[in-house]
Amino acid sequence: MTWQDKLRKVEPYVAGEQPKIVNMIKLNTNENPYGPSLKVKEVISNIDIDKLRLYPNSDAVDLRKALADYYNLDEEQVFIGNGSDEVLALTFLTFFNGKEPVLFPDITYSFYPVYCDLYQIDYQLVKLDDNFKMNVNDFMRTNSGIIFPNPNAPTGLLEDLDFIETILKNNPDSIVVVDEAYIDFGGKSCVPLINKYENLVVIQTYSKSRSLAGIRLGIALGNKEAISHLYDVKNSFNSYPIDYITQQIALASILDDQDTKAKCAKIIKTREMTKQRLKQLGFIVPDSYANFVFVKHPDIDGQELFKALRKEGIIVRHWNKERIAQYLRITIGTDEQMEVMLQFLTKYLKK
Ligand SMILES: *Cc1c(COP(=O)(O)O)cnc(C)c1O
Repeated sequence: MTWQDKLRKVEPYVAGEQPKIVNMIKLNTNENPYGPSLKVKEVISNIDIDKLRLYPNSDAVDLRKALADYYNLDEEQVFIGNGSDEVLALTFLTFFNGKEPVLFPDITYSFYPVYCDLYQIDYQLVKLDDNFKMNVNDFMRTNSGIIFPNPNAPTGLLEDLDFIETILKNNPDSIVVVDEAYIDFGGKSCVPLINKYENLVVIQTYSKSRSLAGIRLGIALGNKEAISHLYDVKNSFNSYPIDYITQQIALASILDDQDTKAKCAKIIKTREMTKQRLKQLGFIVPDSYANFVFVKHPDIDGQELFKALRKEGIIVRHWNKERIAQYLRITIGTDEQMEVMLQFLTKYLKK
């Protein structure tokens, strides 16, 4: 056997590109168009560099305390990781070890099947209906775990708390993970259900609503016992995933919630305007509750439109995948950025 025969071969997740194009309008990775809280700037200017000699606090205790206060939970119910992608990776590794398949939607965050392949976890796709809605009855079969984003990505569609409670009640022997990456853009968080259902784990990120994709911070919230197992796995892999600077920045951000709320409100307003205008142009626009819209036009090929936009320096996201190849996912930027895009689309459709 060669060393190549002994490899773990995986097909990695491909993140949206970070191209170096001057004056581009970057609407492809759901970053926040507005910068983080100014309190973050203050913290960075005051970083004591001598602190960098030392290993950071391995459990980010101060940040953990602040998050617990923010979410009305105990500190032991809060897990902190290096971006929610890492939190998700540890979540799959910790909770999804049964013999039955893990369930998630066929159209969803494309990292989920990658984790399953990496850890050799069996999974079954739950097919969304033609309007991209999940059917709660599809989550009533035996499984080793359930995961979906709410709002779902890349569709932007939101499920209500009744839907989530029905799944939790009917799957008491599995961990149900709700990935709330986009919950701050108009959805209702299921965090208050955590003390009611011990099988619920909620994941959130600092990358989108808090405008801090650059620091890499994600969190998991759940019952004390589940979270302690997540820490055990994390500490068997990397004790110090959150560096000292990130801990200080995140702390400043969580304490300035007003700033986050104001920026999210602006994005929601721009999103609703964008939906209206796209509909007027003939686009099919599912009702997104996230900081992006997922749209297609009956007369234009998705890939073609993606390329035409790119030529204009407007970068959006397109997947050459079954069921969604005609769709584009467009991040909500500033009003000005959306205006440029809408003007271009208007011109393009006239041709
Ligand atoms: C963006 C995103 C994440 C990852 O966020 P990071 O914290 O930046 O790793 C996780 N889940 C979904 C559904 C996302 O869209």
